[in-house]
Amino acid sequence: MSKALVCTCEDVTVDDVEGAIAKGYHDIESIKRYTGFGTGVCQGKACLCAVADLLAKKAALPDRALLPFTPRPPLTPTEMSVLATLPVDEARAPVGGVPAALGLAFHALRPEAPVKPRAKIVIVGGGIMGLALAHNLALRGERDIVVVDKSYLAAGASGRNGGGVRMQWGTGANIELAKRSMELMRGFAREMGINIWLRQGGYLFLAKTEKVADRLARGAELHNRHGVPTQILTPDAARDIVPELSMEGVVACAYNREDGVIFPWPFLWGYATSCERRGVAVETFTQVTGFEVSDGRVRKVKTDRGDIACDTVVLAAGAWSPQVAALAGLKLPSEPHRHEILCTEPLKPFLQPLVSVLDSGLYFSQSMRGEIVGGMGDPREPAGMQLGSTLRFAARFSRALTELMPIAGRVKVMRQWAGPYDVTPDNSPILGRTPGLPNLLMMSGFVGHGFMMAPAVAERMAEWMATGKSDELFERFTLDRFAEGRLEPEDMIIG
Ligand SMILES: Cc1cc2nc3c(=O)[nH]c(=O)nc-3n(C[C@H](O)[C@H](O)[C@H](O)COP(=O)(O)OP(=O)(O)OC[C@H]3O[C@@H](n4cnc5c(N)ncnc54)[C@H](O)[C@@H]3O)c2cc1C
Repeated sequence: MSKALVCTCEDVTVDDVEGAIAKGYHDIESIKRYTGFGTGVCQGKACLCAVADLLAKKAALPDRALLPFTPRPPLTPTEMSVLATLPVDEARAPVGGVPAALGLAFHALRPEAPVKPRAKIVIVGGGIMGLALAHNLALRGERDIVVVDKSYLAAGASGRNGGGVRMQWGTGANIELAKRSMELMRGFAREMGINIWLRQGGYLFLAKTEKVADRLARGAELHNRHGVPTQILTPDAARDIVPELSMEGVVACAYNREDGVIFPWPFLWGYATSCERRGVAVETFTQVTGFEVSDGRVRKVKTDRGDIACDTVVLAAGAWSPQVAALAGLKLPSEPHRHEILCTEPLKPFLQPLVSVLDSGLYFSQSMRGEIVGGMGDPREPAGMQLGSTLRFAARFSRALTELMPIAGRVKVMRQWAGPYDVTPDNSPILGRTPGLPNLLMMSGFVGHGFMMAPAVAERMAEWMATGKSDELFERFTLDRFAEGRLEPEDMIIG
């Protein structure tokens, strides 16, 4: 037992790190997320080696498996007022970013033992969708499941998002799913034994044009019909909720006090721990490399640790789903789009709701640690799996935020990262059976809102899979709707 500090920025002790290792976190990215080490001012410069040393000793790992975590810009905490003055060419597409590509040598962390040769259900992707589905299937008594993920848990969008949970949606289907998800999130800590730091401080949407204001007004009516207490507010009334906002150019606001934010990582770990406790195999650092298909069915999932024969495969690989589907000869209409995000130094609690300007895609909230966490879509971002962090984003975000909330100018940006939105042509997911391959089930295409939808979607999907009872979700949002021109548009999209 040692209370000696390893990370002085974030008060992480030797005990904390050894506790994480004892819980099974055997890679530095996961230990960073579990303990918070390396997320302070020095960005791990003072503690990374000490943690690697503890990991080598306690988990008896070979040197090749001791990989550093991905470095995050900026090199040193930088005031937003400085970043906001950097030139940005809005006419040009963003390129590159730091680091240039995701994916250190994760194969070095691949377990040596082969995967089990047969399972009833194989779920490709251990993000929030795959894990929540496995958890719900296990609750229904189905244990013969393998979840395969090519990386550490939380490496995909599920570990990179803003943690926003809202019921303000443009369709009844999404409002109802979000309502159910919120209900499940409220009971999560009690049922799963892990704190997901749910804080229902509301969501405050701002409109800068009459067109967006109309959309907010129409939305509020729909929400109220579904029992969601969204109110339309004048900019002055909204300043009573967040007095720090300048409100310049804002014409209308929509506020639902019951929306909120959660801390993404424990949410994933909660599902993963429940899966493992119930006998589901969660195989990390294991990549799906192909499928064996015959007579219109997937017979085996091929991985870099051997093949798994199975009855059913679920494709839950988020924005990587088109790549994985291509291994089975399928073309999905979805494409990955980088979305960048950052967090600042911690501040005393001052901001209750998540605030979003729907016109520009700017959004920000204050985390339970006090940081401002926020992002903003870039209309010039091309499709593709590039996940570096750009100075352009830091500049655009800082400018937009300091214009709206001038006091943010003195706040320092601590860390930037990016994740992939899984964008479909109508901003709605792809669910249900695959035409021509009925035992390949789809669970992808959740754009920038899959995190909050996962608990409810996974619950319904597990019931649909286990009972065979029909559910309109898995008939309405199917892959064949795109070929049939039967789109399901959702327009309350941030970014
Ligand atoms: C910056 C940002 C902010 C966001 N903010 C919010 C928000 O506030 N609220 C919200 O609800 N949603 C938000 N989202 C969206 C949300 O994060 C996603 O919709 C959700 O996490 C998708 O979950 P998933 O399980 O489908 O995908 P992922 O979490 O991406 O998981 C897919 C997994 O598949 C694995 N994989 C890929 N290829 C293979 C392979 N060949 N073999 C094995 N495994 C493979 C990956 O390693 C990954 O772990 C945001 C997203 C981003 C990027």
